[in-house]
Amino acid sequence: MANLKTNEEIEILRENALIVSKTLAEVAKHVRPGVTTLELDKVAEEFIRDHGAEPGFLGYNGFPNTLCTSLNSVVVHGIPSNHRLDEGDIISVDCGTRFHGFYGDSAYTFAVGEISPEVAKLLEVTKTSLFKGIEQVKAGNRMGDIGNAVQTYAEAHGFSIVREMIGHGIGHDMHERPDVPNYGKRGKGTKLVNGMVICIEPMINLGKKEIYMGNDGWTIRTVDKKMSAHYELTVAVKDGKADVLSTFKYVEEVLQQKV
Ligand code: MG
Ligand code: MG
Repeated sequence: MANLKTNEEIEILRENALIVSKTLAEVAKHVRPGVTTLELDKVAEEFIRDHGAEPGFLGYNGFPNTLCTSLNSVVVHGIPSNHRLDEGDIISVDCGTRFHGFYGDSAYTFAVGEISPEVAKLLEVTKTSLFKGIEQVKAGNRMGDIGNAVQTYAEAHGFSIVREMIGHGIGHDMHERPDVPNYGKRGKGTKLVNGMVICIEPMINLGKKEIYMGNDGWTIRTVDKKMSAHYELTVAVKDGKADVLSTFKYVEEVLQQKV
């Protein structure tokens, strides 16, 4: 059974979600050719601590940093390093917080400088697929409705859905039940009920869906070495409908100013 939240708990999850959303915006200010992923990690850690929260990923199952920074063909769980971003790269930044006993978790994929039209399309479709999934969040619907909406949209554009990595419930733990796959059949899977809080996070590949884990035990890459994108938001089911707790608003304000 899913771990249902009271309205008070949803408000604490919203505070986490907003800190994460604003942290990603702070990171957005620093994404450019020449910056290292470790520099982005420091920006995020400082911002989270300055807002009275703790980095949610740091030490989680032994993860060494505040951010997962996943470059180009890295799907998720890339470890920050001294590697410098290049013009034309994409970098997916996944960020977590812990605040008042609850977690926040959100991700956004950034273009570094100018990217190719094909890769720009991958980012746009992956982000839109997340919102297609969110449209299905309402009491009485099922996880398969969310997954099917994400999958149908992404595959219609010729991209493929990672199967092994999925979204999840969130609360006192970063990863709680229920599972939130980015694929599935309409009307199947766990029923959505009031008090459920889930992270929807499509991981979508430009080429084939197959992935593998690197020798560091974290970094997940596409087998065909083509690019992969990842966006994530947290959504509560409240009063029968979706209450989206995190937001890309702050990130996109920063990105618009950079253009
Ligand atoms: Mg995440
Ligand atoms: Mg997540």
